[in-house]
Amino acid sequence: MKKFKPFIKDFFFSIRFRLVLWFIVILALVLAGFSAFIFYSQTRDYRGDTTYELVQKLNDIEKLLSGSVPVTPILQPGDVLLVIGPEGKVVLTQGISSNEDGANLMKNAQSAMLGKPELETGILSWWQQDWKNSHTQYFFIMKQISSIQGISGFAILGSPFDPYGMISRLIFTLGLGSLLTMIIAFGGGLWLADRAIRPVHTITQAAQSISETDLNRRLNFSGKDELAELANTFDAMLARLQTAFERQRQFVADASHELRTPLTIVNLEANRSLSTKRSIAEYQRAISVIQSENEFMTHLVKDLLILARMDEGQVVMEKRVVDLSELVVDALERLEPLAARKNLRLETGELPEVKIFGDPQYLLQLISNLVENGIKYNRGPDQFVRVETQLDHETVLLRVIDHGQGIPSENLPHLFDRFYRVDKARGRSDSEDSSGTGLGLSIVEWIAKNHQATIEVQSSPDSGTTFEVRFPAAAAGTSTN
Ligand code: ADP
Repeated sequence: MKKFKPFIKDFFFSIRFRLVLWFIVILALVLAGFSAFIFYSQTRDYRGDTTYELVQKLNDIEKLLSGSVPVTPILQPGDVLLVIGPEGKVVLTQGISSNEDGANLMKNAQSAMLGKPELETGILSWWQQDWKNSHTQYFFIMKQISSIQGISGFAILGSPFDPYGMISRLIFTLGLGSLLTMIIAFGGGLWLADRAIRPVHTITQAAQSISETDLNRRLNFSGKDELAELANTFDAMLARLQTAFERQRQFVADASHELRTPLTIVNLEANRSLSTKRSIAEYQRAISVIQSENEFMTHLVKDLLILARMDEGQVVMEKRVVDLSELVVDALERLEPLAARKNLRLETGELPEVKIFGDPQYLLQLISNLVENGIKYNRGPDQFVRVETQLDHETVLLRVIDHGQGIPSENLPHLFDRFYRVDKARGRSDSEDSSGTGLGLSIVEWIAKNHQATIEVQSSPDSGTTFEVRFPAAAAGTSTN
């Protein structure tokens, strides 16, 4: 019983019940209209026929009254006739069994005729006293008749209304037909609605059973209807969620992994220094290692924060028209000390004024990341990193060229992947600026994408690396703010 009640409640609130209910209400209105029309047209025809017959009969009666021919043959069994004289005296009756009935009929008829035109037709509720059980309604016609052979006044001629129960049978048939139609429609409607809605249950159940660790499940609905479209949209959403979720998981796993190594090194160095007394030189070496690892972690956390903000869509770009060459000069000024430390030269090629539409802060980061890589992955002292810009039709080119270690071609496809480093060991052991997090190029790619720019890399271990970023040039007349 406890289970039954919610079931009933669910049923009444269900779409299929409401659907069928509306369907039945509309069907009931249509059937009622249809039945009313049939009923109206049938009774109108019937009245028309009866009136016509009565008028004919009354005309004949009038004629017969003028010659004293008996009226009876004209009337049919059940017909009643009452002729009332000028003083209200009953002159002739036919088919009326008692005086009382006659007087009753006369009263009814007179009140019906009051102020009405000469010929009046209508249904009067009148019945013979001795036919106790049959309250037959009569259809009457009343007419003034002129004085013919001393008889004048008005004649009332009536026929039983619907003597064979045709109208009541019609009402019964229409009522029963409508009821049966509605019952069948209700059952059929429920069945159809149930069938149509069933896939929704499947989708609901599947959605309920999918947990966050089970995002690879799909509904795989075939078909082309609206519900299949809904299921496919749901599947596509799941796929997007799965990708995002997996990327997030991978990101967290990689980030923890990246942080574990420097933390272990710091811990080892600290423990080793504290275990026994060491010389000043040894302490200096240990602190320098800890400092370097700390620098790496600072760099990593900064890059991770940038990427996390980018992933969450929290970054708001403040774009305006900027001269990319000016930004190159700024970036090179900032990186000059780093290059000097490595005995490298920073060179500029041609730097014409090239306007693009972008956020200067992020563009500066893009240039810096590329130049920093050129400095980091050099081949030793006396090398150079060269930066140049160029306007090529509608495109602004930024080139960062170095003659460093280069990248083997099999590594090129993964270069922009997060945490990807060509030589995992290389960046870490490179002592003083072992700040290779494997995130720099991911950030570069994201910034480029948000400036509708594309990146190309040409590299070989023999000749070094060239990064070429192609920005759409700012349209002439674009505001500088
Ligand atoms: P990282 O912080 O390690 O430099 P990036 O995403 O900037 O991370 O670069 C990914 C990897 O690509 C680097 O670890 C490096 O191996 C390689 N790489 C990037 N730029 C250069 C370059 N100019 N010359 C040689 N190798 C490079």
